[in-house]
Amino acid sequence: MSNMPVAVVTGANKGIGFAIVRALCKQFQGDVYLTARDPSRGQEAVAKLQREGLCALFHQLDIDDLQSIRVLRDFLKEKYGGLNVLVNNAGIAFKVHDTAPFAVQAEVTLKTNFFGTRNVCTELLPLVKPYGKVVNVSSMVSSSALGSCSQELQQKFRSDTITEDELVELMTKFVEDTKKSVHEKEGWPNTAYGVSKIGVTVLSRIQARMLNEKRKGDHILLNACCPGWVRTDMAGPKAPKSPDEGAETPVYLALLPSDADSPHGQFVSNKTVRTW
Ligand code: NAP
Repeated sequence: MSNMPVAVVTGANKGIGFAIVRALCKQFQGDVYLTARDPSRGQEAVAKLQREGLCALFHQLDIDDLQSIRVLRDFLKEKYGGLNVLVNNAGIAFKVHDTAPFAVQAEVTLKTNFFGTRNVCTELLPLVKPYGKVVNVSSMVSSSALGSCSQELQQKFRSDTITEDELVELMTKFVEDTKKSVHEKEGWPNTAYGVSKIGVTVLSRIQARMLNEKRKGDHILLNACCPGWVRTDMAGPKAPKSPDEGAETPVYLALLPSDADSPHGQFVSNKTVRTW
């Protein structure tokens, strides 16, 4: 088993995830895994970094596929006895003009952005070593979507006692409500992406609380963040930030010094804690 520190980034064959790997290759003292659902896209991305003189390693990971997550989990357990840094970056967004029915957009978006991210956390968080860092890439859209929820939903999503099961129930209810075309009546905003990212931010708050309760002495820091509006296939060419600039806040959170005890359980953008 290797004693080498290890970092894992999901959805890293392009966009912000790729830029996070590039920055970690330069700044993280250990092995950096670029993961991607498609091995050829992933290997190509590793080769691109190699041409820049950077050394990333590749492992397949489709966050929609529990089997794929468990293969990575077992690999990390066996080769490194755990992991030190986890960046949950993989995500999807339908284009504004996509004509797919809203209920389909809701189901597909929640499947990856919330349920996929949660499954990765369920399998990999127990492996995170003391002084490890976990970064869940959410979005400022989670804040604006929260503001468009009913007062009752806002109260639930801001609660300091909401459980992961309750959050899963709410995310499942959103998808069901869209299928019955009652989501607006039930207090949900009209954005599947926004609700999925509410899920990611609230999940991060819950997970940080659980770490406080169950692994207090391990000094693990876990946060959600927004990378900003970044020029990628998801956000288009008009966004102001380059992918490398978008990587700055996630990388800052991934590389917090070992004597830091904050931020933890926060929603961070531009390296600044935001009120949830
Ligand atoms: P992107 O260029 O579209 O990249 C998304 C990455 O996620 C791709 O590598 C994609 O892989 C991967 N992915 C999607 N589904 C996956 C799955 N099931 N398993 C594994 N990987 C999967 O988007 P981006 O702009 O870099 O976004 C990265 C993260 O930042 C997302 O969570 C996004 O919501 C968030 N974000 C972005 C912005 C922005 O302005 N760009 C703003 C706020 C938050 P494939 O190539 O195989 O599709």
